[in-house]
Amino acid sequence: MDAAREKKVVDAVPTGLFIGGKWRAGATGATFNVEDPSTGEAICTVADGTPADATAALDAACAAQAEWAATAPRDRGEILRRTFQLMNDRADDLALLMTLEMGKPLAEARGEVTYGAEFLRWFSEEAVRIDGRWSTNPSGAGRLLTMKQPVGPCLLITPWNFPIAMGTRKIGPAVAAGCTMVVKPAQQTPLSMLMLAEIMTEAGLPAGVLNVVTTTKASDVTGPLFDDARLRKVSFTGSTPIGKKLMEQASKHLLRVSMELGGNAPYLVFADADLDAAVDQAVIAKMRNIGESCVAANRFHVHESVADEFAERLAQKLGSMKVGRGTEPGVEVGPLIDATQRAKVAELVEDAVGKGAKVLTGGEQVGDRGYFYAPTVLSGISDDATLLREEIFGPVAPVKTFAGEEEAITAANDSEFGLVAYVFTSDVKRSLRVVEALEVGMVGLNRGLVSNPAAEFGGVKESGFGREGGREGIDEYLSTKYVAVDL
Ligand code: NAP
Repeated sequence: MDAAREKKVVDAVPTGLFIGGKWRAGATGATFNVEDPSTGEAICTVADGTPADATAALDAACAAQAEWAATAPRDRGEILRRTFQLMNDRADDLALLMTLEMGKPLAEARGEVTYGAEFLRWFSEEAVRIDGRWSTNPSGAGRLLTMKQPVGPCLLITPWNFPIAMGTRKIGPAVAAGCTMVVKPAQQTPLSMLMLAEIMTEAGLPAGVLNVVTTTKASDVTGPLFDDARLRKVSFTGSTPIGKKLMEQASKHLLRVSMELGGNAPYLVFADADLDAAVDQAVIAKMRNIGESCVAANRFHVHESVADEFAERLAQKLGSMKVGRGTEPGVEVGPLIDATQRAKVAELVEDAVGKGAKVLTGGEQVGDRGYFYAPTVLSGISDDATLLREEIFGPVAPVKTFAGEEEAITAANDSEFGLVAYVFTSDVKRSLRVVEALEVGMVGLNRGLVSNPAAEFGGVKESGFGREGGREGIDEYLSTKYVAVDL
């Protein structure tokens, strides 16, 4: 990849805070480095926001709220639609930027730009479908009117693994509903969000509707917003422990809350499954985003009659994937986000191997520059292996066997998480029985990918609550007002 082109794309990013429609330095003038995880080197610096900056961002959001709520839904939709178009026009640059700050291979970054932009197209269409209800009181006396109104200023906190899509999944419905917002992107991947703010401004988003505060002190900087009664909602995507902490903070002013948290997805392969499809889809479910996805297959539960063949074929596929810097041609597996994440993945593998697992491929870090880890398949996993309980967030596939359907369901549900499960079977009755019994918010049935802007994404149990995308996505940003009407 051309270093001059990388520099040009990075240099085009505004690196200040975006508050009230203006780019500016943080209150102290401090900045922090954004690193390329494939080299560990800094690619640029961005403003390190303070609590005072966050409050200024909320001031701007509150100042814009009433006028924004009163804009025509069609106008809000058109801004989203123009942003969708601009993102697609600039997809190559946005994808390169994302690869540089996050590490995922360029083709996947390109895929995320498309996926992220699609949330804006979807919600541009939903903006004009916000409706209410008019009904007759069951007694016949009077009428019942319900209307939907924007909840008000929102705080949107996003993680580093999908730097654009986790943002547009919140920004799209917030804009469509008529809410203003303060966005706090992950400190490791702020550049994609900063670029998006610039593009939305170009698309006509009025000043103050979207404000972006980058910072290295997430807790200190967002804390005052939770203490401020003007904030009406928090939508968070990230880890379950931080989600719980934010729920406590949100209780102070009883904020509307949406939580998209961690996962521990089981991938069930029954004896009657199409094994070719199960193996091919396993590669997607496991390796998309280098395994750093909340919906990544975390543990493979495979019927004992096909488990050896499944594991060997999966190992053959993962073992032949090209690992390297995401900008290089043909690379399918980029680096993990940082040294800490790689050490955690290595520790989980060591723990499983120490408890009897066999390494079919991988099981080691790659190179001495950047944070690469080899795609890994493990078989013979013992019940007490830690990676069955924890989110791996890396390219490691543990394969465990089961003997019967009940045992598979029990194993799948044996987790505090409940985001997604994958089920492979060609028996229609079994598929519906198993889908019904799984304690999750989403199921991939003979498919290794569920993410789709037109579908309601979200979990149950400690994977959180609230839905992003689909018909329900906009409801997270709307309040219902009921009017008792006397005719
Ligand atoms: P994280 O550590 O929870 O951080 C997520 C975001 O929260 C970041 O912007 C982070 O800022 C911020 N943050 C951290 N501590 C905070 C605090 N005390 N107060 C306010 N903000 C705080 O999660 P992550 O490691 O970035 O992301 C990985 C996790 O996200 C995984 O568990 C994954 O499953 C989950 N995830 C879930 C979904 C879903 O839809 N269910 C989607 C994607 C990811 P800093 O960057 O400054 O730490």
